[in-house]
Amino acid sequence: MAIQTINPATGKIEKSYAPFSKDEVMKIIDESYDAFLEWKNLGIKKRSGLVKNAANVLRSKREEYAQLLTIEMGKPIKQSIAEVEKCALVCDYYADNGEVILQNEIVKTDASESYIQFDPLGVVLAVMPWNFPFWQVFRFAAPALVAGNVGLLKHASNVPMCALAIEQIFSSAGIPKNVFRTLLVGPDLVNDVIQHPYVKAATLTGSEPAGKSVAEKCGKLLKKSVLELGGSDPFIVLEDANIDDAVNTAVTARLINNGQSCIAAKRFIVVEKIYDEFKSKFVNRMEQVKIGNPMDEQTELGPIAREDLMYELDAQVKESVKKGALLLTGGKILPGKGFYYSPTILENLSKGMPAYDDEIFGPVASLIKVKDEMEAIAVANDSSFGLGASLWTNDIEKAKLIASKIESGSVFINGMAKSDPRLPFGGIKNSGYGRELSHYGIKEFVNIKTVWIK
Ligand code: NAP
Repeated sequence: MAIQTINPATGKIEKSYAPFSKDEVMKIIDESYDAFLEWKNLGIKKRSGLVKNAANVLRSKREEYAQLLTIEMGKPIKQSIAEVEKCALVCDYYADNGEVILQNEIVKTDASESYIQFDPLGVVLAVMPWNFPFWQVFRFAAPALVAGNVGLLKHASNVPMCALAIEQIFSSAGIPKNVFRTLLVGPDLVNDVIQHPYVKAATLTGSEPAGKSVAEKCGKLLKKSVLELGGSDPFIVLEDANIDDAVNTAVTARLINNGQSCIAAKRFIVVEKIYDEFKSKFVNRMEQVKIGNPMDEQTELGPIAREDLMYELDAQVKESVKKGALLLTGGKILPGKGFYYSPTILENLSKGMPAYDDEIFGPVASLIKVKDEMEAIAVANDSSFGLGASLWTNDIEKAKLIASKIESGSVFINGMAKSDPRLPFGGIKNSGYGRELSHYGIKEFVNIKTVWIK
């Protein structure tokens, strides 16, 4: 795929870039390693101060960066602004807390003194997706840099302007050259980067096939990897839930980021006693969503990020319908410029249909009727993914019991699944392994070293 910005709201090519050659990439890795030797010795206080500056740079040019996001992948502008602000927050979080999280841990043993220290690993490769083009990168980079690592970014090929802007943000923050570098390359050079002896670890956020490829290469070379992959999150509504709240959140949770979020609610599992009420309110709300130019502040749903992804989404819906799913609303590519898809709800779903088995990355909700909460749990877990989950009930004690039975990296009770710098984020099963954010995230790319003194 070319490294190119194509505005998904218009279909127009905005910018094209020549990919870096393999020689250029190898030279950058050498430079990153040299930068690491100085960066790790700078001390965590100074590193934290510089990452804090990055938060200020982000806030000072919030609107400018937000426009880049919207132009490159079509996110409604208000959500782009929120994403830039959240990146500033994650920089603040690690700048303010990194030193305490990574201070030596003293452990009483038979030694006169024994403790655990956290050393940086070195050059870490981040392979990132287009759907949150700033957030995915900052949630990796802020902790990695505070810990003393240096970062190489291979961003998705359709968001090169964001990739270059992020490198510039760290540079404007005063972070030394080569501590964070963007590589404008396609997936074909990823294995060569991982192979380089200076590259000590890799993290990938993206699809299952891409994750497996990076994990395989890292595994062969015994290099650490973290994978944040897809999801098909359940949104369970029990009969004692506040249905209006659940419906309102269901619409937001499915349509946020134009329906292209890994932790978007995708399978709406509703008990039969309230199914019809939930269904009619859900259909009604989905039909009222304001679709349009993502630069317009009133727009709630913008385009799909790429034309090929729009066709892929449409094929998943069509195949589900062919296999017996019922279309309650939507189910079509919208006419006119850009890559727009109508808000869609499918029901009568079963195993073997894409809308039941696979991740649906777009504004398409799978509505599933279940007898009771036991069946709701079984259906929720009947997925190869295990990223997030949302559970709606007024009985909090019951909700806590159900939460422990759900196979996922997070469960949100009476709320929408979302990431927060203070809470760990990640999945189980085919949603990946390892964690980002919180004190867990910053410890993924450190050498947890025991020091024992007689
Ligand atoms: P993708 O096609 O897997 O691409 C992600 C990144 O991997 C891009 O930089 C891509 O480069 C690269 N890539 C693709 N194939 C590769 C390979 N064989 N080897 C190495 N790198 C490869 O995913 P996407 O379409 O950008 O993003 C959507 C997916 O990401 C969804 O499945 C979504 O659920 C997941 N996601 C997960 C999380 C999470 O935290 N769990 C968060 C956001 C998104 P090119 O662009 O150059 O092909």
